[in-house]
This record gives sequence, C-alpha cells and structure tokens, in this order.
Amino acid sequence: MSFSLTVIGCGSATPVGHRLSSAFVLRRNRQFFLIDCGEGAQMYLKDNHIHMQRIQQVLISHLHGDHYFGLVGLISSMHLFGRTYPLTVYAPPELDHIVRHQLEVGRTELSYPLRFVPLEGEGCFRIFEDKSLEVFAFPLQHGLPAFGFLFREKGRVGGGTPPKSFAYCSDTAYTESILPYIQGVDLLYHESTFLESERKLAEERLHTTARQAAMLACKAEAGRLLLGHYSARYADIQAFEAEAGELFPEVELAREGLQLTI
Ligand SMILES: [Zn+2]
Repeated sequence: MSFSLTVIGCGSATPVGHRLSSAFVLRRNRQFFLIDCGEGAQMYLKDNHIHMQRIQQVLISHLHGDHYFGLVGLISSMHLFGRTYPLTVYAPPELDHIVRHQLEVGRTELSYPLRFVPLEGEGCFRIFEDKSLEVFAFPLQHGLPAFGFLFREKGRVGGGTPPKSFAYCSDTAYTESILPYIQGVDLLYHESTFLESERKLAEERLHTTARQAAMLACKAEAGRLLLGHYSARYADIQAFEAEAGELFPEVELAREGLQLTI
C-alpha cells in the first residue's frame, strides 16, 4: 500500500495570488488525512477532486491562523451537507474550545460527532493507530506549541514491499532535535519560509531556510524532500529548489495541486 500526498496549499502567513495557506491531504487506501487547514481549504479540496466528506482525520500542527482558519468552515460545510460519521481533529488543546465556541454562537448543532484529541505528550508520541498504520506527533520549535507528524506503515511479517513513511514539519526553526523522529523517512515535507539570504530573518521568526531544510534531509537520510511554506516576498520559488538541491538533490517544490506517491 502506498501513500498519496496532495498539496492543497503551501504558502505562509497570508494567501497571495494562487498560493494558498497550508493544507495537505494524505491518502492511504480509503483513509484521508487532512494535515493543516488554512483559510478556504474546503474550496480547494474540491478543485483537487477530493470530496470533503471522505476526510476522517484532521491534524493541525499549531495555532497560527494560516494553519487552521479554514477548519470551522470545513466542519460547518460537512454538517450542512448532512454528514453523519465522525470527524476526529488532532490539535493543540485550545482548538477544541475555539471551534465549539464558534459553533455555539451560531447555534449550530452538528449532524455528526466531532471529536478533538489534544496534542499533549513528551517527545514523539503516537496519536493514531490501526492494523497497518501508525501516526506520531513530535515537537517543533516555533515560539508556541507546534507539532510535526510522522505517518508510518507497519511492516508485515514476511510482507513484500517495505513499509513507507512520510513526515510533515511545518512551522519550525532549524532544529536537529527532530532527527531521531524523521530518520530514514521516504518523504520529508519541511518548511522553507526563507532562502539562505534571509537566514537572520528566519532565525528571528523561528522559520527555516531552504538550505537548512536540505541539511536536515541529508542528516535524516530522507528519500525525498518536499519544500513549502514560502514567504509571500518570493514571487518566483525556483531559487528554493536550486538552493536546497546543492546539498540534497532529491528535492521537489510543493505547488498547489501537486500530487506525489510515496
Ligand atoms: Zn506558524
């Protein structure tokens, strides 16, 4: 079984032009995980031919608006279209209250069970498990609680193809503390808000440069690196690929609508 990753949005703090706030869909067989849910994500799911009602789990990395402002809209539309089966949201604990308050003041009683699972734990902790897949959360460095996610297939005894893995790291300053969690991952998505020429700014704002992301991919011995979360200041993102490629050739740029098989 392989994963399929669709980039819904890979911009940073503000949506500019065709570059949208963070949202990714990871599909594995009939399981659809939405990772981050920036503003307007529900509309762009449609553009990518992903039916919102197929999403069973939402993972929110941290509570900067560009990673969750689309969530209450999505939850509300799922209700308006008559969803009955549960939705589980893994997120920093405050999000439960934020969303429920928004629903309450609008006197919306959802047609389906909405379950929040708070991201709380030390180091790398498991948040989801079924018979063939595990999902873990681990801390990033971003000035507020922020989490990376690791999706890892379980190996089967005597099973044919090797188990696949995908790690998602957005947003974070450069930190080697994540290396034990992302070691050997098949695909690493790592934010690269800035280029190395803005390294000082990246450090001040607790973000990463393309070169730093490539360095982490090297040290983690990742199979491939996917860059994203580009600052709005860069109209052309080709320079990100060139900069990271000098250190780590297996690099790809996230763009809205890009689909990768892992
Ligand atoms: Zn952030």
